[in-house]
Amino acid sequence: MRIVVLPGDGIGPEISAAAVEVLGLVNRDLGLGLEFETHEIGLVRLKTGGTTFPAAVLERCRAADGLLLGPVSHSDYPGRAEGGINVSAELRIALDLYANIRPSRSRDGLAHYGRTPMDLVIVRENTEGFYADRNMHLGSGEFMPTPDLALSVRKITAAGSRRIAAAAFELAGSRRRKVTAVHKRNVLKVSEGLFLREVRKLAGEHPDVAYEEQLIDSTAALLVRDARRFDVIVTTNMFGDILSDEAAELSGSLGLAGSINAGDAHCMAQAQHGSAPDIAGRDLANPVSLVLSAAMLLDWMGRRRDDRRFARAADTIDRSVDALLKDPATRTADLGGKLGTKAFTAALCSEIGGRLR
Ligand code: NAD
Repeated sequence: MRIVVLPGDGIGPEISAAAVEVLGLVNRDLGLGLEFETHEIGLVRLKTGGTTFPAAVLERCRAADGLLLGPVSHSDYPGRAEGGINVSAELRIALDLYANIRPSRSRDGLAHYGRTPMDLVIVRENTEGFYADRNMHLGSGEFMPTPDLALSVRKITAAGSRRIAAAAFELAGSRRRKVTAVHKRNVLKVSEGLFLREVRKLAGEHPDVAYEEQLIDSTAALLVRDARRFDVIVTTNMFGDILSDEAAELSGSLGLAGSINAGDAHCMAQAQHGSAPDIAGRDLANPVSLVLSAAMLLDWMGRRRDDRRFARAADTIDRSVDALLKDPATRTADLGGKLGTKAFTAALCSEIGGRLR
C-alpha cells in the first residue's frame, strides 16, 4: 500500500517528517505493508518546476492508497496562470474528497478553553458551498460586474447534502448516536432549506440516532458554553471550516486537531491549521495535528480493508499523544512546553513503541 506524502510549505516539511516517522514506526511494528513516496509541491516546486502542483504528481495521488498533505501557503501563491495551484483545493475536487472529518476532543490534564470538556466531530461538506474554486464548471464563483460590486455564488446540491449527511449518520452510529445539523436557514431559506431537506431524510432513515438542528451563530456560542451537548455536527463547507477551528482551539489548541478529507475512493490526511510561516524551519511546530490526521487515515484504510491492525495503530498513536500531552514536560512550545518538533516526535515514537511491544 502506497502513501503519497506532499510536505507542503512553511512548517509542512517539519511536521510531515514527524508524521512519516510515526507512520514508519507503526508500519514496522505491526507489519502494515505501507510504502511512502514523497513529492515536492508548493513554493519550492514553483521555483524549480514552474507550478506548485505538477499534473504528474496529481496522477501519483490518484493512484495512491492514501495521501498525507502538509499545510500549504496558498495565500502566497501567484495566480493559476503563473503556476499557483492551491494543492489542497485541487486534491479535494479532483479526488472528490467530499467529507472533511474534524474531531475535537479535550484531554485529561490539558487545559481546555470552553466551559466544559468536549468530544465531538465536525463533518464538513468539502466540495461545494461558498468556495469560489469549487462551485463552477467553468470560471469562478466570485466575480465583479463593476469595480464597486463584488458577488459570490454559493452552490448547494441535494446529492452533495445527502452524501455528507450519510457520512455524518454513519459516524454517529459508531459514537454517541447524535447528529446536529448546523445551518442558517433563517436567512438562506433556499440553499440551507435544500441542505436541511436532505439531512432530514437521512435522519428519518436512522431512527436510532438522535437528530437536532441548530443555527450556526448560536452553535458558535454553545461550543463555548456547553460543548458536551454535541456529538456529530454536520454542516456546509464554510460553516464547518470556521466552526472546526473554533472547536479545536476550545478543546486545547488548533495545533492538536486531526483531520481527514475522505471520499468513496480516496482519503487525505491534512492538519487543520495552516503553514505557520512565522515559525517555519525553527523546530518549533507542534506536529500533533498532522500526526493525528495520519492516524485517522490509517483508521480509514483499515476499515476499507477490514484489517484491525490499522485501527490498533491509529488507537495507539491517539493514546500515546494523550499520554505525552498530559505531562507539561513533554509538550511543545505552543502548549507552554519546552520540546521542539524533533524532540517531541522522538518522545512520541518512544511512547508508541513501548505500547506496541
Ligand atoms: P496558521 O494556522 O498557519 O497560523 C496561525 C498561528 O498558529 C500562527 O501564529 C502559527 O505560528 C500558529 N500555528 C499554526 N500551526 C501550528 C503548529 N502546528 N504548531 C505551533 N504553532 C502553530 O494560519 P495563518 O497564519 O492564517 O495562515 C498561514 C498560511 O497557511 C496562509 O498562506 C494560509 O493560506 C495557509 N493555510 C493553509 C491551510 C492548509 O494547508 N490546510 C489551512 C489554513 C491556512
